[in-house]
Amino acid sequence: MSHKKYITNIDQIPELNRLEEHHRQKLKAVQKRYAFRSNGYYQSLIDWNDPKDPIRRIVIPSADELQPWGELDASGESLYSKAPGLEHKYPDTAVLLVSDVCGALCRFCFRKRLFMDDNQEVARDVSAGLAYIRKHTEINNVLVTGGDPLLLSTRKLTEIIEQLRAIEHVRIIRIGSKMPAFNPFRILDDPELLEMFKAHSQPNRRIYLMAQFNHPRELTSEARRALDLVLQSGVTVMHQTPMIRGVNDSAEVLTELFNELSYMGVAPYYVFQCRPTEGNAAYTVPIEEGYAIFAKAHQNCSGLARRCRYTLSHATGKIEVAGLTDDQVFFRYHRPADPQQNLGELLAFPRNPEAFWLDDYTDPQPLASNQKSAFC
Ligand code: SF4
Repeated sequence: MSHKKYITNIDQIPELNRLEEHHRQKLKAVQKRYAFRSNGYYQSLIDWNDPKDPIRRIVIPSADELQPWGELDASGESLYSKAPGLEHKYPDTAVLLVSDVCGALCRFCFRKRLFMDDNQEVARDVSAGLAYIRKHTEINNVLVTGGDPLLLSTRKLTEIIEQLRAIEHVRIIRIGSKMPAFNPFRILDDPELLEMFKAHSQPNRRIYLMAQFNHPRELTSEARRALDLVLQSGVTVMHQTPMIRGVNDSAEVLTELFNELSYMGVAPYYVFQCRPTEGNAAYTVPIEEGYAIFAKAHQNCSGLARRCRYTLSHATGKIEVAGLTDDQVFFRYHRPADPQQNLGELLAFPRNPEAFWLDDYTDPQPLASNQKSAFC
């Protein structure tokens, strides 16, 4: 299969023909509910001899997705929608949803609602979103995401970036993408894209590529070359990943991932608690277990590889898991949606090894104000 070929039906995967019919039927039921998409390059990374292969786990549907659990919009993103394709949750940051497709689809995607037929949250025409950003001078930072913006043509993406660059108060443009992992040829085969990055990532107004890699096996020689070209174009590259059961729920895997990225000049930025999104029950790791894995990985990393935080994207803001004791877990509001209410607030709860989201800790007990500075 050519690396450029996209597949959207599991019938196109010869290796799945070996499955028993009732198992295939379950996978077909899964893909009917939650879209399947992959491509020749990413499929070629799967080791079909290993039933626990992490790449297979990331992209191939699993019958476990039918377990009832979670909500489609677990972080209430749509509550912050202010114009078609535009979310405004934190005062200085706007999110432009410009694409409703990715280079492949992660089975644990927290935005799988965007890939469903009736979704209206992504705007092909971003003019209303741009007008909103122009009017709101407090916005200095725009995250262009979706779906994956690198699925747009370079011409269309350039139009969006040029219009954002023309807004004086927008200093940082971030592009959220998993294309360096899903199909680095999108970058390797397109010198115009790199020229556009070079033209618009300026000394005082940088473009950041927020690259998602879930496992070191995604850091192929092609992916490394693509990241290097992006870095050479003057774009700063940051890394983020959710913690996913069976993919990167291991300190050794995370250590290797953080270290390898830092060797390339890519800064580890966030490890996210997997959101309680529909279909994600089998992919998530309880918060306290996830934090313990993350903390152990940190211990084995160099300082530069150790810059990321373990964080929940909660409806009320970005909340960092700040630490564990034998009987308590601590959270800190890293980016509250309402800075008047939660800025720097530290929360402590009795430990609950079964908790997957902040809401699973009952009876919250914010610390007294004189304790707030301890972790800030
Ligand atoms: S790259 Fe992001 S938006 Fe796309 S499928 Fe994966 S998690 Fe979802």
